[in-house]
Amino acid sequence: MTKRDYYEILGVTKNSSKEEIKKAYRQMAMKYHPDRNPDDKEAEEKFKEAAEAYEVLSHDDKKAKYDQFGHEGMRGGFGNQGFSDINDIFSHFSDIFGGSSIFDDFFGGGQRVHSQRRGLGQAGSDLRLTLRLTLEEIAAGVTKKLKISKLVACSSCKGNGAEGGISKTSCHVCHGSGEVKQVSRSVFGQFVNITTCNNCGGEGSVIDNPCRKCKGDGRVKDEVTIKIDVPAGVHEGSYMTLKGQGNAGKRNGRAGDIIVVFQEEPHKYFIREEDDIIYDLHISYPTAVLGDEVEVPTLSGIAKLKIDSGTNAGKLLKMRNKGIKHLNSSSSGDQYVRINIDVPKKLNSKEKELLKELETSPNIKNISGTDENNFFKRSR
Ligand SMILES: [Zn+2]
Ligand SMILES: [Zn+2]
Repeated sequence: MTKRDYYEILGVTKNSSKEEIKKAYRQMAMKYHPDRNPDDKEAEEKFKEAAEAYEVLSHDDKKAKYDQFGHEGMRGGFGNQGFSDINDIFSHFSDIFGGSSIFDDFFGGGQRVHSQRRGLGQAGSDLRLTLRLTLEEIAAGVTKKLKISKLVACSSCKGNGAEGGISKTSCHVCHGSGEVKQVSRSVFGQFVNITTCNNCGGEGSVIDNPCRKCKGDGRVKDEVTIKIDVPAGVHEGSYMTLKGQGNAGKRNGRAGDIIVVFQEEPHKYFIREEDDIIYDLHISYPTAVLGDEVEVPTLSGIAKLKIDSGTNAGKLLKMRNKGIKHLNSSSSGDQYVRINIDVPKKLNSKEKELLKELETSPNIKNISGTDENNFFKRSR
């Protein structure tokens, strides 16, 4: 299948701003989100396509590569285990988006029949897991250990499902082919319907003596601890795949994957803008006029910040590299401190007097007169 142009997918152009690209992606993601479009293959494709396009167009380095080389430039360019096989991610749509809790339990019926090899059991289904992360964790990357419940190979039969050594008999229903043909006739002609054999589950043979522990399934439910290495710079809704760590396959069939979807917790102090963070600092009028050194929170702890004398409200002070590390890169975003000047509502009589005196002093009184674009006149 030839890939569609990333810009076309999101309905943006090469000259669209990051904000426009983000907005376009959000709209697409909302519209085609699998939770909203259950059993809609086309919506799934659109969702997948949009996620892939956004992953590239939202990163300057990847976007530049794509602009220069097209899809060819993206080959092997992601470098990170989880983001490299984006096509694989949502191929098992119903499995992945079936649930809603922190750990979405098992989903039945999601076998990958095409990956099944004769002699091996059905593949295990994928598991989806939502991982909540703080901005601090996203900023530097984090390793998380989680206890999950999943199907693992049965220890008693080593996953093969047989009690005391494998001994199998060819399935009497399908005679070893694993498929059942049903022929029906109608006015339009003859139809042949081929389905997987129910008796042997498509394997072509049945176990003579099923394992007592797993009842011949070759797997049992167990609690395991998994380790997730979250790279720095992930964003809300992005995901990574832990290959082969999902449910064990039936009778030593291929294991499914775990899809970890990241969720960003809102921060007490910061607003995230791509990989930059914004902090609103509230200072008093005298501090704005006289300047000072203050303490501000950063993602890596408290830091000192110099406020120059004569700092106006709305000014953004940049703290270089104090933002979030770019994904797959050693460089970081910045922290911006936005100056807010708080005007007190309550004053005592002494403060009122001081301010009145200040108001008539030369440098305060004439401040508006220095800017010709500013209209300010006292009416009394
Ligand atoms: Zn067993
Ligand atoms: Zn059969």
